[in-house]
Amino acid sequence: MVNKEKCGNFTEQDAPKYEDTLQCMRCGFCLPTCPTFALTGRERSSPRGRVALARAVAEEKLEFTQAVKEEAYFCLDCRACTTACPSGVKAGEVMEVCRSQVHQQQPLPKWQAGFRSFILEKMLPNPDLLETSMLPARLYQKLGVQWLVRNSKLLKLGPKWIDKAEGMMPEMHQPLRQRIPETTLAKGEKRGTVAFFLGCVMTLMYAEVSKQTVRVLSHQGFDVITPKEQKCCGAPHLTEGDRETTRQMATHNLDLFLDLDVDAIVTDCAGCGSALKEYEEILHERQDHARLELFHGKIKDVSEFLVEAGLRTEDLLPVNKSVTYHEPCHLCHAQGISKQPRDLIKAIPGIEFREMNESSWCCGSAATFSLKFTEESQQILDRKLNNVKNTEADILVTANPGCHLQLAWGLREAGMPQPVLHLMELLGEATPE
Ligand code: SF4
Ligand code: SF4
Repeated sequence: MVNKEKCGNFTEQDAPKYEDTLQCMRCGFCLPTCPTFALTGRERSSPRGRVALARAVAEEKLEFTQAVKEEAYFCLDCRACTTACPSGVKAGEVMEVCRSQVHQQQPLPKWQAGFRSFILEKMLPNPDLLETSMLPARLYQKLGVQWLVRNSKLLKLGPKWIDKAEGMMPEMHQPLRQRIPETTLAKGEKRGTVAFFLGCVMTLMYAEVSKQTVRVLSHQGFDVITPKEQKCCGAPHLTEGDRETTRQMATHNLDLFLDLDVDAIVTDCAGCGSALKEYEEILHERQDHARLELFHGKIKDVSEFLVEAGLRTEDLLPVNKSVTYHEPCHLCHAQGISKQPRDLIKAIPGIEFREMNESSWCCGSAATFSLKFTEESQQILDRKLNNVKNTEADILVTANPGCHLQLAWGLREAGMPQPVLHLMELLGEATPE
């Protein structure tokens, strides 16, 4: 999208908005909230420093240098600084936009660019292709090759990110999109109809979790429509600086879901919810404003939706466990949803809720950050694991697949006993068949 404002040394296509860089008054309130500043103590790796870099490029005081490129990707986009900033500066979003500048100004070598474009432009927008691509991973687990690889410790000899990526793989099931009915009817007294947005990572890696989400919604009195033609929300593209493919998929999803007569569009993935709520901004030059507003108003994280609707608790089964909660950045900072997941956990009979210190501090996952910056990601994760340990809770609950992968891996590597459950898995445990 061409930015008609001051671009300076940014290219016009998808440049950060100059006005977004002007709001920073350099107060420093954001500094203690930024994980990368905490790690490095380096001004350029802080929200204030990153916004200053973007402003300098827009004002032609700085070229789009290697340092700007590095900071665009070293930022976790955790948005903790947005929550802290009294001026409404969104340093994470400014850096996210800068990633598309990286690909325009410093293109990758040809083969890497071709691979990137295959993943982002061909595979992710095509659910059938995406699901087929996961078949080898399922066979790898089913045929016992994973057991052999893990026990041989062979991957410890290679780059750390490969060993970590393999270690993070959850138990893979058949993708939920292929087997979930298009409509799941409400149980008991019907309260309404919702559409279910089934994110790529959830359907491919956490199919059994999303199955629980649909079951819980149905048990709570809602017909659940899961359109099979839905596509990826576009969050991976925003993360990788491909804003144009995001727009194409956003347009598809917007048209598809607005055609349905539903009270809400519900998701159980914090990253998807955050991206879907950003369609208003992403598509503002291409779509009618009223349609964008209508769509935005219907998008609900499942915890947000169930608390607004009022959770039916009369037949919930007890779960006699202590539970702590890690807040996904894209739920608490990007969507302002913090209280609702806790309300749901506390509503389950038998649960003893234990608040964790720094519950909204990033876990170090942050899309591909955990594989690109394995050392830094580990340091951020260690801080989180220490906070989990101090609660001595039986179960760690979260609500985003990226956090789930990172935390489950981290707990296992650290020899900690807690299982990680998605909030809907916990609620599913308390929901009778
Ligand atoms: S980004 Fe916000 S909190 Fe940080 S220095 Fe600028 S105005 Fe202050
Ligand atoms: S989004 Fe997170 S990592 Fe990036 S500048 Fe803000 S607080 Fe720091």
